[in-house]
Amino acid sequence: MQDHIDICIIGAGVIGLAIAAELARTDRRIFILERNRSFGLETSSHNSEVIHAGIYNPPDSLKTRLCVEGRPLLYELGEKYKVNHRRLGKIIVAADTDEAKEIERLYRQGKENGVNDLTFLTTKQIKQLEPNVKAVAGFLSPSTGIIDSHGLMQMFYGRARENGADFIFNTEVTGIAKTNRGFKIEARQEDSTAEFNTSLLINAAGLYSDKIAELAGIDVQDAKYRIHYCRGEYFSVSPRLKGIVNRLIYPVPEQAGTGIHISLNLEGNLKLGPSAHYVDTINYRVDESNKNDFYRASHRYLPAIQFEDLTPDFAGFRPKLQGPGDSFRDFVIQEESYRGLPGLINLIGIESPGLTASPAIAKYVGEKLKGWV
Ligand SMILES: Cc1cc2nc3c(=O)[nH]c(=O)nc-3n(C[C@H](O)[C@H](O)[C@H](O)COP(=O)(O)OP(=O)(O)OC[C@H]3O[C@@H](n4cnc5c(N)ncnc54)[C@H](O)[C@@H]3O)c2cc1C
Repeated sequence: MQDHIDICIIGAGVIGLAIAAELARTDRRIFILERNRSFGLETSSHNSEVIHAGIYNPPDSLKTRLCVEGRPLLYELGEKYKVNHRRLGKIIVAADTDEAKEIERLYRQGKENGVNDLTFLTTKQIKQLEPNVKAVAGFLSPSTGIIDSHGLMQMFYGRARENGADFIFNTEVTGIAKTNRGFKIEARQEDSTAEFNTSLLINAAGLYSDKIAELAGIDVQDAKYRIHYCRGEYFSVSPRLKGIVNRLIYPVPEQAGTGIHISLNLEGNLKLGPSAHYVDTINYRVDESNKNDFYRASHRYLPAIQFEDLTPDFAGFRPKLQGPGDSFRDFVIQEESYRGLPGLINLIGIESPGLTASPAIAKYVGEKLKGWV
């Protein structure tokens, strides 16, 4: 490996890829180190693939700001580079009068967040749009959509490479030492160890971003950077129900996620998920015994779904900064000069809406690095 490069990005998920595409220039040396054999094999390929509008998080948060900025960018990129996507729209529904209050609160928050195209719906209007959905109230978000996450990552990867970025797979970062010109990186490859120096270091290691911060010498407990894994499972819905809804249908959100919702993939097949359970370890197998929870959650607002219609599909893990019962935590996107680590940018807790926000996060990181390289 080359001895001194300009920028090293750790992690080739959608965030590392979007940043690489944003920063790559033929006169810059950029390495993207990824421990897996290819890009996007972890959280970025185990999610709902929804282009979110920006409704769920507080108005003054990075989660909201970068989602609201990222959504139109994602649609533009989808058009320009022919990444498969659909602006399907979604309805968030209240199954009973208690939930209706929460729907009103969410609707107001969405407006405050700058999502200007929301429309409140009566029971009758919901029936007209979605005859098979049972709800007492709801609102429509027409700019919510879905996107092929692999296609999106392939596009970022191709653009970064075209502009001279080097992807180094099967390479796990195992050591980071501060030097007077940046950082010395130590990485494990199949049966060897590589070392090189970089002026700037970007930590986009997803579920392991707290471990990378620790390698750089940060006390993650003290910095409040500890990641909690929050597992989300999905069940696919029998093709016999294809066409039963025209849009994504979401219930009111729960504490740790958006609630078990009905989404459509680009082929029009339905899936249910994700659930939300804090866990200590990562295991991608779906537990079939959870099927009843999915049946009960979805049957409330889509009565045509039967228990037999559900089949275990896949699981993903949210890299959460807030632990069980904790209040809201925002994305951390932090240049660490004030911790004595100038030139290190940590991206920690990039859970949903990270996919939607990815092009806006990349621009935000680019802004932070202006004047550095
Ligand atoms: C269940 C679920 C549903 C979601 N749904 C949506 C949605 O509908 N819409 C939306 O906008 N967002 C959604 N998200 C959020 C979105 O998926 C994430 O925000 C996004 O994928 C995070 O990307 P990332 O690049 O940060 O992480 P990752 O994709 O996890 O990438 C990090 C990479 O770093 C690598 N890495 C880690 N440690 C090292 C090391 N030491 N050395 C080298 N490489 C390393 C890993 O191998 C990995 O490839 C969802 C997330 C989950 C879990």
